[in-house]
Amino acid sequence: MLIVQKFGGTSVGDLERIQIVASRVSESKKAGNDVIVVVSAMSGETNKLVQYAEHFSSNPSRADMDMLLSSGERVTASLLSIALNEMGFEAVAMTGRKAGILTNTQHTKARIEDINPTAMKKEIDAGRIIVIAGFQGVNENGDVTTLGRGGSDLSAVAIAGALKADLCEIYTDVSGIYTTDPRIEPKAKKLDKISYDEMLELSSLGAKVLQNRSVEMAKKLNVNLVTRTSFSNEEGTLITKEENIMEAPLVSGIALDRNQARISLVGVKDRPGIASDIFNKLAQNDINIDMIIQTKAYDGSTSIDFTVPVNDIKDAKDVVDSFIKTGEIKGDSYNEDICKVSVVGVGMKSHTGVAALAFSTMADNNININMISTSEIKVSMIIDEKYAELAVRGLHGAYELDK
Ligand code: ADP
Ligand code: ASP
Ligand code: MG
Repeated sequence: MLIVQKFGGTSVGDLERIQIVASRVSESKKAGNDVIVVVSAMSGETNKLVQYAEHFSSNPSRADMDMLLSSGERVTASLLSIALNEMGFEAVAMTGRKAGILTNTQHTKARIEDINPTAMKKEIDAGRIIVIAGFQGVNENGDVTTLGRGGSDLSAVAIAGALKADLCEIYTDVSGIYTTDPRIEPKAKKLDKISYDEMLELSSLGAKVLQNRSVEMAKKLNVNLVTRTSFSNEEGTLITKEENIMEAPLVSGIALDRNQARISLVGVKDRPGIASDIFNKLAQNDINIDMIIQTKAYDGSTSIDFTVPVNDIKDAKDVVDSFIKTGEIKGDSYNEDICKVSVVGVGMKSHTGVAALAFSTMADNNININMISTSEIKVSMIIDEKYAELAVRGLHGAYELDK
């Protein structure tokens, strides 16, 4: 078997943990598998590097940020390779560039455009274990790029897809995918299996256990994805096609996203094409818009409210300012003290009353809902951030996910 094993920040959090990871990797190799390892930076390391940059500038260039942030993963990849060699295994460490991960030029959130597996294949054929620095690639100019926070998951899945690996294991600090973040609701239950689509919703809606783009890629390339803990041998959760799941529950999980902000625009000129102009410009800047509400026009102008990830506020503000300059928007305000709670489940497609239960749960807990959006398999609500945990636990109980 060809196995890709990805170890997240806590799994390689200190030298002792790296040694434990080396043992685990060596077991897979001894069992006769070809093994490609993808590692994250040691936990806290990427945040520390961000803070270092902030010491000097509130607006560092994104290319410089990528140079900086990609270094964390190189540390762990080389240390793990050194540990494996010392144990008598032939291992080789690689940067994303050496591994052939080619991305576009969108620094700090680059997309993988292609993978050139030549170097990886050569090492695998020679019987070596490859240890790849996750979260990074190279663009057409030869500059290092990073794949967005949590991007080592994407590195692992993309490599597994490109090399048609039999299995892609994501090792983390929880034993699988739970009905909600077990750190918020201790009654959360581990799922044996979950469909790509539900997992994609959960991670897009804030469950950082898997980076959302990694799930998207796993679905597209049909990668056998398992999330499990590096702290024990407990079985994890399989992320798979919907048809492989016999009895889909009505609701699979509750997600929480604290990294959302609400942007409110007032005095927006009411003319055909204005929404298209604003949101196209936001899209060109790679800003992810989620919920949008436009009110009825009055006196030739309307109000538009929408949500963006907190990290994108600065970029979004630049776009809004360009419309304020032309007079097509009169005023703007920004609120970061909000969060998004979501109920996700494929069973919703064929059942009624799922959204109504979410709303009544908020009402029972005296939580005001600011914005709502729904799709075939999810209901999302924007609420004040101070009610985040209360809302998650309330919904978890209301849909009987602890049973
Ligand atoms: P890593 O450093 O290994 O990449 P992350 O911190 O990115 O790990 O992701 C693991 C964390 O995801 C867990 O510690 C948990 O708090 C959080 N999490 C959020 N939602 C869920 C969920 N539904 N199931 C499991 N973990 C979740
Ligand atoms: N170290 C990077 C981050 O913290 C990438 C990752 O861990 O997946 O976002
Ligand atoms: Mg992660």
